[in-house]
Amino acid sequence: MVKICQDNQVKGKTIIIRADCNVPLDKKTGMVSDATRLERFAPTIKKYTSLGAKLVILSHFGRPDGQKKPSMSLRPVCQKLAEILGEPIEFIDDCIGQGAEQAVKNLPFGRAIMAENVRFYAEEEKNDSGFAQKLSKLGDLFMNDAFSCSHRAHASVVGIANYLPAVAGPSLLAEVSALEQALEKPKRPSVAVVGGAKISSKIAVLKFLVKKLDYIIIGGGMANTFYLAQGYGVGKSLAEPDSVPLAREIMQLAGESQCQIYLPSDGVVANEFAANAPHKTIDIGGNIDGMILDAGPKAIKEMLDIINKCQTILWNGPLGAFEMQPFDNATNMVARHVASRTKNGQLISIAGGGDTVSALNNSGVGDDFTYISTAGGAFLEWLEGIDLPGIKILQ
Ligand code: AMP
Repeated sequence: MVKICQDNQVKGKTIIIRADCNVPLDKKTGMVSDATRLERFAPTIKKYTSLGAKLVILSHFGRPDGQKKPSMSLRPVCQKLAEILGEPIEFIDDCIGQGAEQAVKNLPFGRAIMAENVRFYAEEEKNDSGFAQKLSKLGDLFMNDAFSCSHRAHASVVGIANYLPAVAGPSLLAEVSALEQALEKPKRPSVAVVGGAKISSKIAVLKFLVKKLDYIIIGGGMANTFYLAQGYGVGKSLAEPDSVPLAREIMQLAGESQCQIYLPSDGVVANEFAANAPHKTIDIGGNIDGMILDAGPKAIKEMLDIINKCQTILWNGPLGAFEMQPFDNATNMVARHVASRTKNGQLISIAGGGDTVSALNNSGVGDDFTYISTAGGAFLEWLEGIDLPGIKILQ
């Protein structure tokens, strides 16, 4: 259980809140090009400023490697956040030191201020205790509201909690409880859809999930390595022959844990990796002369049948080369089915990590899932069963 603070305890307090304001900027205009993270964060600011607290927002932005790089200033992000909030947010050019401390002191309660990129200091990523202590001087209470940064043992995520009372923020709590719902005590039967390019990047995830869930649907490029492990040819498909022993190990672990692994029984094959490339449907196990870029119609039906039996689904990775039509078909069909069962109250659906968010948004139904995590690395580490340092420190 992570610590939280009661709403009636924050009036007159200065809360240092670690957020993830690392949003993409348009290279030409220098403006924020995707504000999803800021839109999710704004209600937290509203909540605590309305409760009479002063908020000091800390975040990283890009990878400035410990140097003050103007192109990685949080200033334009702060402007965008203020626009979304509909209220001014002050900006301080530094995240530590007397100037920053004075600016916070001068700020009235009920208002928020954002400090400059914490990664302008190399000490941030080293979790330097002196730097963490300097950060802590900006407030009375530390709140981590950035699940997506919680796999990093950095000063503004972990170190600072050694100098102040530390609690979980509302977005972090929402994310943790959604993931716990899916992994720790899922409504059974439960299924994971694990897709994407390569098995080698998701070995730890697969090893952990086979122990926790009833079914695993493997799709995308990584299914090809499993086909090889079963002795099937994959033609020119993306595959990792070196990982065949790992695929076998995962299948064995699944058998021991009574987790059923499902591999698509047919695929859509093309000769080039390009949108609208000429393609055909083939049965897996037969002769394949092109590359498998998506699951076929029989496999889609079988995947939907498995999902129909389940009450919880966890999804990471697309089922095909979803960026190119028509190879986005299996991902779209399965995503729409999951969304519709979720809307009908038949399924709890949690998705996240890497390309999954854009794959589901591409299908047009991302909003209908129970929870979509925008955290990449942190989501995957959670799926590997790793204790995230930024969460551990709040327990
Ligand atoms: P990941 O980042 O591991 O989730 O992988 C996502 C990427 O996997 C996307 O760019 C997809 O285009 C790619 N992908 C999914 N299925 C296939 C496939 N059958 N062949 C090649 N690439 C694929």
